[in-house]
Amino acid sequence: MANKKVGKKDITGLLEQWSQQFAVFAPSKENGVAEMLKWDGQDTSFLDWYRNTVVPPKASFLPPMEEMFRFQKGKEGYNIEPPPEDENKPLIFGVRPCDARAMAILDMTFKDAYEDPYYLSKRKNTVLVGMGCTNPCESCFCTSMGTSPTDPTNVDLMLIDIGDEFLIEEVTDKGKELTAKTKGLKEATKDDEAKAKQANKASYDRVTRKLDTEGIKDRLLASFDDEEFWEKTAAKCISCGICTLLCPTCYCFDINDEMVKQEGARFRSWDSCGFPLYTKMPMENPRQEKWRRVRQKVCHKYEFYPMTYDIIACTGCGRCIRLCPVNWDITQVIESVPTKTEARK
Ligand code: SF4
Ligand code: SF4
Repeated sequence: MANKKVGKKDITGLLEQWSQQFAVFAPSKENGVAEMLKWDGQDTSFLDWYRNTVVPPKASFLPPMEEMFRFQKGKEGYNIEPPPEDENKPLIFGVRPCDARAMAILDMTFKDAYEDPYYLSKRKNTVLVGMGCTNPCESCFCTSMGTSPTDPTNVDLMLIDIGDEFLIEEVTDKGKELTAKTKGLKEATKDDEAKAKQANKASYDRVTRKLDTEGIKDRLLASFDDEEFWEKTAAKCISCGICTLLCPTCYCFDINDEMVKQEGARFRSWDSCGFPLYTKMPMENPRQEKWRRVRQKVCHKYEFYPMTYDIIACTGCGRCIRLCPVNWDITQVIESVPTKTEARK
């Protein structure tokens, strides 16, 4: 099937059309940091500045703070009310392939033994419109982590920058239904396809940071008790939690009830295994020392997740490198994990 295309100057019109049917989210810096926010009906400045958001799109499915239900205490016990549902289904515009892959990775956890209705209902109802990167950051290493700057695998539609226009690849049935209902799209020509292919190759080549993950699961397993290695690895970390809270594949959360008189609500909010107080209730944090918490963060992504789901829970988005206040770098850590032979010495 032929792909479609849309002019860059027509993006406002495209988002306007989609806004009539969906709650459209797009990259925005309205709050001072780049994140996916409800589109304001006119701002397309992200076409100039957008590389990736600071807050990953996981926030749309697992919000930093989410009301789970409200309750009132009556004579007969508690009355529970689910939170009000949004009227329009969400459409997230401009998702990067690394973050789309991260959501496919998160799905594995949220669909596992316990199916999380809050996360899964949002995922099911949301349309993801991806946008290929033309200008990856120095900290990005997606091409080493099973994806690439223009990988369409985990989105419904994929936009590839071909100059004054975007080529639109229809990836899923949801994506095809959307383009079929969208007015003003043109059929992409062979020349457009060739330009897209060239753009994909150029973007791929711009990701210069590489990470060799060969045998990493076994190397981590063999080095698990190497306290000296983990203490050295954790030395400069200040346990701020940024690398986990803003990692698109991290999903730890805490649950709290807030109650005033006879009414209240239950909330869940992002938490981090990097915090000393993590899992303080109902018992002590089993990882009192910082090196144990840093080990947990690394091993969860590169050892435990591959053991459970056969996939590394890191997409090479580079956020943890870009945003760490002390320049802790996960690629350096993974490279420095001792080989099995070294670990046995
Ligand atoms: S962002 Fe850096 S300092 Fe903060 S917890 Fe992560 S590694 Fe430690
Ligand atoms: S560990 Fe770092 S590079 Fe990997 S997905 Fe998380 S934030 Fe991105």
